[in-house]
Amino acid sequence: MRAAQFFISTLKEAPAEAELPSHKLMLRAGLIKRLASGLYSWMPMGLRVLRKVEAVVREEMNRAGSVELLMPSVQPAELWQESGRWEFYGKELLRMKDRHDRDFCYGPTHEEVVTDIVRKEINSYKQLPKNFFQVQTKFRDEVRPRFGVMRAREFVMKDAYSFHTDFDSLVETYNGMYQAYCNVFNRLGLKFRAVAADTGSIGGTGSHEFQVLADSGEDLIAYCPDSDYAANIELAEALAPAAPRAAATAAMQTVVTPNVKTIAQLVDFLKVDIRQTVKAVVVESDTDEPVLMMVRGDHELNEVKAEKIAGIKKPLTMATPAAIRDAFGAQPGSLGPVGFKGRVIADRTVAAMADMVVGANRDDEHLTGVNFGRDCAEAEVADIRNVVAGDPSPCGKGTLALCRGIEVGHVFQLRTKYAEPLSCNYLDRDGKLKPMEMGCYGIGVSRIVGAAIEQGHDERGIVFTDAMAPFTVVIVPMGYGRSELVRAAADKLHDELAALGIDVLLDDRDERPGVLLADSELLGIPHRVVIGERGLADGKVEYQGRRDASATAIDVAQIAAHLR
Ligand code: ATP
Ligand code: MG
Ligand code: MG
Ligand code: MG
Repeated sequence: MRAAQFFISTLKEAPAEAELPSHKLMLRAGLIKRLASGLYSWMPMGLRVLRKVEAVVREEMNRAGSVELLMPSVQPAELWQESGRWEFYGKELLRMKDRHDRDFCYGPTHEEVVTDIVRKEINSYKQLPKNFFQVQTKFRDEVRPRFGVMRAREFVMKDAYSFHTDFDSLVETYNGMYQAYCNVFNRLGLKFRAVAADTGSIGGTGSHEFQVLADSGEDLIAYCPDSDYAANIELAEALAPAAPRAAATAAMQTVVTPNVKTIAQLVDFLKVDIRQTVKAVVVESDTDEPVLMMVRGDHELNEVKAEKIAGIKKPLTMATPAAIRDAFGAQPGSLGPVGFKGRVIADRTVAAMADMVVGANRDDEHLTGVNFGRDCAEAEVADIRNVVAGDPSPCGKGTLALCRGIEVGHVFQLRTKYAEPLSCNYLDRDGKLKPMEMGCYGIGVSRIVGAAIEQGHDERGIVFTDAMAPFTVVIVPMGYGRSELVRAAADKLHDELAALGIDVLLDDRDERPGVLLADSELLGIPHRVVIGERGLADGKVEYQGRRDASATAIDVAQIAAHLR
């Protein structure tokens, strides 16, 4: 590819609204252009990166036995009403009406659509298991789109859905997908960790997230450095990431009397994460009866639902939803506008909080009764919520550490969560009708590009791995327009590399050498060959890897072989 024919549009400075290095660099390198909040165009240079990620994902999905299809992005409301998510999903679901006044949404995910296909197409155990995937555009009306393509509203996801006769078969495919995800992230050269996870609004039982490790990540992960034990704490912004139990205890003793009058202020005060987040909150209400409750904050709905109440033995009386409502004078189903006196303390763990308040009087049964731990994976998440950095790891092999991550993939054992309401049934060997077991598996294809740049950059720009780079090699001629010698050598090398199937960019733009060199670094192209008259006189060109401190002179005759 020749740069003059291609499209390069780099900026010296990043637009002010970009906070993270990856967002700044993607804008500066001209990989993406902002259209509106959370909406980005993939420019030619960026699209090449996106397509490379997509290709690796597609290859590994095919290899793992998943079959590609493509479903519509616009989906009829009826299916979502059937699954119950039309109500449940909240404002993240972009709803619209067609000319006949029928309700539709722009798909944030495709469980309903794929289940509708399968219930119509598959009816016998003989046709199972099946695993389908697509690479497609999703829309989620995120409350706070930010970080460019990392938390966009429109984004590209690879989503796969598997259907089974029984749980064992589901687990087998789940494990296969888990392995395929490891392959994808390894091939892309990402430092990542698979962590036990909550199932959020997708639902189901067992679940793992794939987290690219980065300090800027929105997720907080507790892990054991001496084993592969890791789980998402889902409390990204509650306390400083490393805050140990002592800090939480100190917070306990501080009497905070915030000027909290509305739900919005409460959400703000508690720093409830913008996603649905479970927190424990101790409230000393007017009634002098401290209440420990689980709060599910839903920023989109701008409300805090006290759905799950942790029962605590004396001296705290068991809090019931009614007691909470009474204490706050709130409406059923939400806390409503609250005006209260007293202190509110948010902590990352229910049990740690309960321990601090009532010593060893934690009522584990009640904690289970709040529905933690429906199966091992969830129990694992619940366990991990109960510990902070420095505590012994549940694996027994070391102490826990905390780090931050960017969620780039998520696998779920959905079980029959969708099959049952949507009547996705099959006939088993004995002619009995049974609901299918189901799994689903998502990868944030476009988010990966941002996450990779968070991990791969320096002061000069992006540092791409070969697997993701828009071009593998850039040829920078010193004076393409004025030196016949340089032009001929650059053209020759370009054609030679292209013939070898190498993604090569010849930067033949009429720009100063300094601009060309700076752009090649900003764009993160892993291998650079500089061709100048002086070098050519000695039969040499200069090779420099993007991470190399300096260039190496290489014989013109050797350079193609060197880059192979
Ligand atoms: P998050 O916790 O970051 O909001 P999620 O848990 O809501 O993500 P999933 O429903 O698990 O997302 O979707 C599968 C994958 O899609 C995620 O692992 C992530 O990589 C990607 N993804 C989700 N939301 C976005 C977004 N707003 N922008 C870009 N990628 C996203
Ligand atoms: Mg989300
Ligand atoms: Mg998540
Ligand atoms: Mg997720």
